[in-house]
Amino acid sequence: MQKNNLGYPRIGAGRELKKACEQYWSGKLNRDELLDVAERLRRENWQVQQQAGIDLIPCNDFSFYDQVLDMSLSLGAIPKRYNPVLTQNRDHTELDLYFAMARGYQKGGIDITAMEMTKWFDTNYHYIVPEFYKNQSFKKFSSKITDQFSEAKKLLDKTPKPVLIGPVTYLLLGKEKEEGFNRIDLLDRLLPVYVDFLHDLKELGAEWVQLDEAFLSLDLSEKERDAYKTAYAYIARECPELKIMVATYFEALGDNTTLATSLPVSALHIDLVRAPQQLDAVLQATPHTLSLSLGVVDGRNIWKNDYKKSLDLIDKAIAKLGKDRIFIAPSCSLLHSPYDLDAETTIAPEIKNWMAFARQKLNEVSELYKIVEGEVSLLKENSKVHEERRTSERIHKVEVKSRVDGITETDTLRKSPFSARQKAQQERFGLPLFPTTTIGSFPQTPDIRKLRAQLKKGSITQQEYTSKIEEATIEAIRIQEEIGLDILVHGEFERNDMVEYFGELLDGFVFTQNGWVQSYGSRCVKPPIIFGDVSRPNDMTVQWSRFAQEHTDKVVKGMLTGPVTILQWSFVRDDQPRFETAFQIALAIRDEVIALEKAGISMIQIDEPAIREGLPLHKKDWDKYLDWAIKAFRISASGVKDETQIHTHMCYSEFNDIIGHIAAMDADVITIETSRSQMELLEAFSEFSYPNEIGPGVYDIHSPRIPTVKEMTALLQKATALLPIENIWVNPDCGLKTRKWEETEAALRNMVRAAATLRKEVKQRV
Ligand code: GLN
Ligand code: ZN
Repeated sequence: MQKNNLGYPRIGAGRELKKACEQYWSGKLNRDELLDVAERLRRENWQVQQQAGIDLIPCNDFSFYDQVLDMSLSLGAIPKRYNPVLTQNRDHTELDLYFAMARGYQKGGIDITAMEMTKWFDTNYHYIVPEFYKNQSFKKFSSKITDQFSEAKKLLDKTPKPVLIGPVTYLLLGKEKEEGFNRIDLLDRLLPVYVDFLHDLKELGAEWVQLDEAFLSLDLSEKERDAYKTAYAYIARECPELKIMVATYFEALGDNTTLATSLPVSALHIDLVRAPQQLDAVLQATPHTLSLSLGVVDGRNIWKNDYKKSLDLIDKAIAKLGKDRIFIAPSCSLLHSPYDLDAETTIAPEIKNWMAFARQKLNEVSELYKIVEGEVSLLKENSKVHEERRTSERIHKVEVKSRVDGITETDTLRKSPFSARQKAQQERFGLPLFPTTTIGSFPQTPDIRKLRAQLKKGSITQQEYTSKIEEATIEAIRIQEEIGLDILVHGEFERNDMVEYFGELLDGFVFTQNGWVQSYGSRCVKPPIIFGDVSRPNDMTVQWSRFAQEHTDKVVKGMLTGPVTILQWSFVRDDQPRFETAFQIALAIRDEVIALEKAGISMIQIDEPAIREGLPLHKKDWDKYLDWAIKAFRISASGVKDETQIHTHMCYSEFNDIIGHIAAMDADVITIETSRSQMELLEAFSEFSYPNEIGPGVYDIHSPRIPTVKEMTALLQKATALLPIENIWVNPDCGLKTRKWEETEAALRNMVRAAATLRKEVKQRV
């Protein structure tokens, strides 16, 4: 039996890599200094893993930006537009090329766009999407894979295990950038380069190589399954001396179980945290030539492992395969875990005792090993912690649980159907056609952020802070009035982050000081931790919405984050199903919605930008998820009178496949992203007639560019061809907190003009 690890976080316990990269980008650090920081981080990570007793320590899991981009660079899949980066300037190195691909390049008259970025399966990590062209070729380009193997080998007592993205997954992660071919057909050209790397590694002394093939746990087409057979038969034939471990994670193998277990490789890693139920089927299908790596320690969450549960799985596998063919491991790369729980000093000791971060998870792998080898006292200690957690009064609130149990169908329904509500709301608000509004936040200027830092440090009082935020709010109201927007917002100046703000005001959440997880490149997030039953001790936003409303005669929209988004962007409980937690949050938000209504707020927006990213990886599981997610939203939104208008907001354009469910949320108004896709999304509406009011975003807030009246008018004209005119709202794609005031004012002025143009046109039509 051996202890295996799939990957380790690389940003550094104090986000050293983030800081060093950003300094390098701004010219404050030179290349050698950056390389030094990286080398030190790798060394520390390897040493930590060695000390924890891990046998198969990963290498090549380090990355300056993203491991998929690393793979593209290793394989020479470099889009042509980056050629000038190396040819134009002699001082430029492979590293500059790499960062140009990640972040774009604007220097010396050259302007090259970055490669696209997208979410890594169902995580909050984003990878750089490989670009494939019809005449795509691959060749050994970067020597990172072998360099890092040699570096690790020098340092470690045992032979390190290089980790590469598997060839089929690599192709599937990418995108065809031209018509007329399927990226899977590039496999024949790709495999020889993989084999080259494997030979090099063998030469340098490698024994095990891990090939990550997460797509084996997704729905696959026949062609994709065949690609797996071809790829691994080829590798087995060309590299018979290497031991290959195929790693899967984030889901059960499901329909691909036999495919995966019959690949001619030495070991298969499976995720038994997300999908413990797959063990029986996998054991059944495992041939005697295959070893299994059991992913029993959760790489995606921060809770202490329940050894008893893990041992049940491990024992079962040992009974079938024997110890020699078993690896104990985390469920996936620890990239998705924060570094080190020991660095936290503010979490209550009782709660902290329930948790494990990356470093602690290594130790859990090692302790599980020891228990199997007979050190049962470790099991007893662990069971005690879990017993304490199961019964802790900090977690379990009878009132919250019984309120969730008592949710009825009525709680998910508005009093009247949309048509009646629309009428009541039209009478109440008397809005013009094409009403204009924004998504909620206004620029979070350095001044605003400084206030929060000062408050945290104690260099200003709560009172001083509040009055400064009030000033900013009044100013935002004045600017919106002056621009001529129809529906105003308070600007969200009091919020650091749309989830953290609510988490801090709700019971059942804790926050870390250093619990950073890489989101993309140098960007890290510090997700709140939901540890207990969620409830709302006090109003959360009423004061701010009321304050803003008192300063204008126009309607001010209240602004809340929805239950699914709060859930999705936090570390969640593993001791109850996700939907249970979602319903608890939904009831808290429902109370806030009702409190806002009582305070005289007549429009309330409940943002749910994360609904889509919660979609399960297997399509067969979609409906079940969407049912409870939509229900959670409806619970939060349904406690108000007909004439109170509920808005929701989502910022993505691919929702054609779930549009029926989005409609079922039954928000009176939905605002969505559409401008980047030129309203492509609206085409969905030619087949599905969206029943309620809708504001398709008319400009992209991610760019500092100021959109013209003409282009926004054109987008709106497109919308009028597909949607009933009286249902159309006019708004940007998303919140404006990352923009500057100058850009914001100019863009909104143009947007208001575009709406006026449309109103005129429509008048002329009748
Ligand atoms: N109301 C939020 C804002 O305007 C919405 C942000 C989001 O959709 N991500 O910032
Ligand atoms: Zn948004």
